[in-house]
Amino acid sequence: MVVLWLDEISANDLELVGGKGASLGELTGADLPVPPGFVVTAGTYREFIEETGIAEELFEAVDVDTEDSAALADAEARAEELILGTEIPEEMRQGILDAYDNLDDGKAFVAVRSSATAEDLPDASFAGQQETFLNITREDLIERVKQCWASLFTQRAIYYRQEKGFDHEIVDIAVVIQRMVDAEKSGVMFTSHPSTGDKKIIIEAAWGLGEAVVSGSVSPDNYVVDRASNTTEDITIADKKMMHTKDAKTGETVERKVPDDKRNARVLSEADINRLVELGEEVEDHYGTPQDVEWAMVGDDVFMLQSRPITTISDNGSIEAEVNEGVADGSGAVQTEKGGSQEVLVNGLGASPGIASGPAQTVTKLDQLDKVGEGDIIVTEMTTPDMVPAMKRAAGIITDEGGMTSHAAIVSRELGVPAVVGSSNATDTLEDGQVITLDGDKGTVREGKPEKEQGQEREPIEDARPKTPVKPMTATEVKVNVSIPEAAERAAATGADGVGLLRMEHMILSTNKTPAKYIEDHGVDAYVEEIVEGIRGVAEEFYPRPVRVRTLDAPTDEFRQLQGGEHEPDEHNPMLGWRGIRRSLDKPDVFQHELDAFRELYEMGYDNVELMLPLVNDAEDVLRARRLIAESGIDPDKRTWGVMIETPASALQIDDMAEAGIDFASFGTNDLTQYTLAVDRNNENVAGRFDELHPAVLELIGQTIDCCRDHDINTSICGQAGSKPEMVRFLVNRGVSSISANIDAVRDVQHEVKRVEQKLMLDSVR
Ligand code: PEP
Ligand code: MG
Repeated sequence: MVVLWLDEISANDLELVGGKGASLGELTGADLPVPPGFVVTAGTYREFIEETGIAEELFEAVDVDTEDSAALADAEARAEELILGTEIPEEMRQGILDAYDNLDDGKAFVAVRSSATAEDLPDASFAGQQETFLNITREDLIERVKQCWASLFTQRAIYYRQEKGFDHEIVDIAVVIQRMVDAEKSGVMFTSHPSTGDKKIIIEAAWGLGEAVVSGSVSPDNYVVDRASNTTEDITIADKKMMHTKDAKTGETVERKVPDDKRNARVLSEADINRLVELGEEVEDHYGTPQDVEWAMVGDDVFMLQSRPITTISDNGSIEAEVNEGVADGSGAVQTEKGGSQEVLVNGLGASPGIASGPAQTVTKLDQLDKVGEGDIIVTEMTTPDMVPAMKRAAGIITDEGGMTSHAAIVSRELGVPAVVGSSNATDTLEDGQVITLDGDKGTVREGKPEKEQGQEREPIEDARPKTPVKPMTATEVKVNVSIPEAAERAAATGADGVGLLRMEHMILSTNKTPAKYIEDHGVDAYVEEIVEGIRGVAEEFYPRPVRVRTLDAPTDEFRQLQGGEHEPDEHNPMLGWRGIRRSLDKPDVFQHELDAFRELYEMGYDNVELMLPLVNDAEDVLRARRLIAESGIDPDKRTWGVMIETPASALQIDDMAEAGIDFASFGTNDLTQYTLAVDRNNENVAGRFDELHPAVLELIGQTIDCCRDHDINTSICGQAGSKPEMVRFLVNRGVSSISANIDAVRDVQHEVKRVEQKLMLDSVR
């Protein structure tokens, strides 16, 4: 099946049609006004790279160091060359053209948009990552589809994916092909306020096609509607210099000057606003969460071009606002009651909350990015994805152009960097080195840095904030996985109920020495201390919330890379080899040092530390480990300890293991999937088969939860799949006790858990 029609698609088809395709299918199914069209599925792309034999070379080409700009550029060029230069198999070509011919008898102008399978996931808005081509006809269709495929490997996409921890090999791309809407007006709409979460609908609108608003190349009008009273509370009419429109002669999309009489005119009438608000409410009702909607209008008809969950709302909005401070002006900046006494230099939209002070640095060309130092405030016309590394360094961001969905707005919200966008004149008004303070809530930029004022001083905002943000109350605990102790503070700030997995091997790998080599060089005490300190940082940050620490589990091939690695056995298949509890039981002396570290922590009062054993298979493994724990002076009846369920054997033997006295069982779905499906988790050739939601994996998990419930043993998940909404739904419905997710996914998982729990409660009373 080369294509799927939008009316054949639902939200469940995410992996086949990507976020955009699934959302459009879902909206079509809900009878919302979506232009007709079809999707060239992700499977078709996968078949293309595999059938033509370019897959391996492609993935090799994009496996580069993302901090090396030259290597990134080469990777993009090679990927494009491979995809565009390879003939598309005839059957695929025909399948796409046949579908096109069925749309308006082959006369349609269509929009061709890429829809990546990792795009629009609740935990990341991959803003501006993939291509869109407008007003395309039959002649160019196939080439444009291939360009969409190639856009999966632009420099910025490679960079962004790597930063977000997505594997290049497992991200696929679908292509949405839809009848064009010749929009007279278009824009975006947030069904709730994107930074504060208030029940206000924010609409941004500009003349012509919507691309200009989405890309941030024009500043749109901004309308704020209070949902409770249904009144338009605030209108900001922008100076709209440019618009995108279809050239009547060539049919191509062109950028034109907005006619003088429309430049400063209001785009939306009250009637238009009412129509959009109605639509916004319908979409939010349909999804049950606030949405970010792209819309277009022709005459009185409104169309929806996309809808996705807003990724950045927190329950308490501004509580998450940070006071970012430039290093150049020293620390200790305090926001005073009178913090606004300085002159406002520039006004714009508050796009990412928080207050930042620092020296301005104007960036007009990409090669000026180096001048942005840690703590500077970037001032630019509009940010681009290539600026992300500099945006991460910056204390704040100010742009001339762009609205609430522009690249600058979305990325700064994700990075947690305060931003003011669409100021129209910041690059002209602000000078390099000038110390300024931006307010990402109010949208103002002031001269200087707020000063402490006698008698008017109040606590710094940062200190006045609660340590953890307000979060949805859920019966199922939502915890967080921590890979590096340095991430503890950020992890704790998510409001997670504890740490579901702290991997001890990372503490060792970061010393670049195998345990034996470390001990040889520095002695046993230092080794134990290294572990104690690594755990202590996290246990302290979370105290009294529980922190589940897993004993060493590094396969021999990872240890081989370290100093001392030459003594590691050369295993034919390290994943099935000497790792986890097997090695600990064979080498009780090394295991003993880890247990010594636990005992020391307990003696120091860290009673929130829990002990987790990796890769156990059966009760014998558990009983042998329990004996060693007891011998080390830790009382297994007094401390919380448990096992990971990572092999089918462990899931099938859970009844006996429960008898051995464990307090919890935690699903390590990375390994459980690998061993259940016989799919090496590190082998790209079978990456497409690595499916944590496979019925066989789910059955093992389901029956383990049932058995643990009988024994009153807690169950949890700490594999990557715990961050996936589908897995969360499955687990909560089956009665799991807790879910541990990646830092970035915690908030979405909390909401998903709450939604499922509420549905379960409603179902029980209906
Ligand atoms: C797992 O297997 O799911 C797990 C969490 O452990 P690791 O990824 O460290 O093997
Ligand atoms: Mg594992």
